[in-house]
Amino acid sequence: MATIAFIGLGNMGGPMAANLVKAGHRVQVFDLQPEAVGRVAGAGGIPQASATEAVKHAQVVISMLQSGRQVEALYMTGQDPLFGRMAPGTLVIDCSTIDAATAKATAQRATAHGLDFIDAPVSGGVAGAQAGTLTFIVGGSEDQFARAEPVLHQMGKKVFHAGPHGAGQMAKACNNMLLAVLMAGTCEALNMGINSGLDPKVLSEIIKQSSGNNWALQLYNPVPGVMEQVPAARGYRGGFQVNLMCKDLNIAMELSRDSGSPVPMGAAAKALFNLHQVAGHGEFDFSSLFRMFRQGGE
Ligand code: NAD
Repeated sequence: MATIAFIGLGNMGGPMAANLVKAGHRVQVFDLQPEAVGRVAGAGGIPQASATEAVKHAQVVISMLQSGRQVEALYMTGQDPLFGRMAPGTLVIDCSTIDAATAKATAQRATAHGLDFIDAPVSGGVAGAQAGTLTFIVGGSEDQFARAEPVLHQMGKKVFHAGPHGAGQMAKACNNMLLAVLMAGTCEALNMGINSGLDPKVLSEIIKQSSGNNWALQLYNPVPGVMEQVPAARGYRGGFQVNLMCKDLNIAMELSRDSGSPVPMGAAAKALFNLHQVAGHGEFDFSSLFRMFRQGGE
């Protein structure tokens, strides 16, 4: 069993760290928010006063932060950059969803410090993080992938090697752009059904057994009262923030520009989520986009 530092214990990082504790590792945890640290300490994580303390004696360092800027600050540009603090040979796994350029630049700098850095963004939501069934999408060398695979399997069911550094983030950007399109389409279709007098529970079952079936409908129904244990069942609290989806759609737009790919559906979804964000819903789960379609009708 290893000593693992886990930094960033929010909606995703908290349950991921708890699963590593369950797997028998010594997990040294840190977050800027003391409540987040407290939750993981309750599950057996060992609280640390700073990120620098957390990485002491760790063979593996995992980060799960919100943005590329936060990742850069933690490892390279902040007050006490971690790349100066870790022993050569440490495996650094960044699970945050960030742009591929930042992931590549961070990997390059890590190599200069004698560290193994991979990008390993995840899919599967908070429920997947809790159940240990996440999908990991890795960018890095073959050797780095082989080193990381066993620990990633302790937090997830599927672990993919997408390609070299940055490739994990590129694949994740494609996935999340499609997720945004699927969620927006699901909200739109269910709202039309409700306005036509259909029962959203019955309509959801019909579409799930028909050609409109998709992940949002199966596991993340956006209409309150249709599914239990989804953000829609608790006022759209927890889950995957609209702010984070907007960040991911900005990343997807950069990728479309860099790769010369037309993304009319992604651009439409981005416009919808941005409007929803500026209307004051940024901190709610992304399935709250359904509220935009109801426009006060709920
Ligand atoms: P979150 O806001 O709940 O958690 C992020 C945590 O990082 C916060 O607790 C914050 O305090 C902490 N943090 C930021 N900078 C820090 C630093 N320097 N040191 C220590 N802690 C720091 O976000 P989340 O929902 O857990 O998402 C994390 C990442 O995973 C994001 O990039 C997101 O896009 C991605 N993601 C989220 C989901 C989801 O369903 N929530 C699913 C897949 C991927």
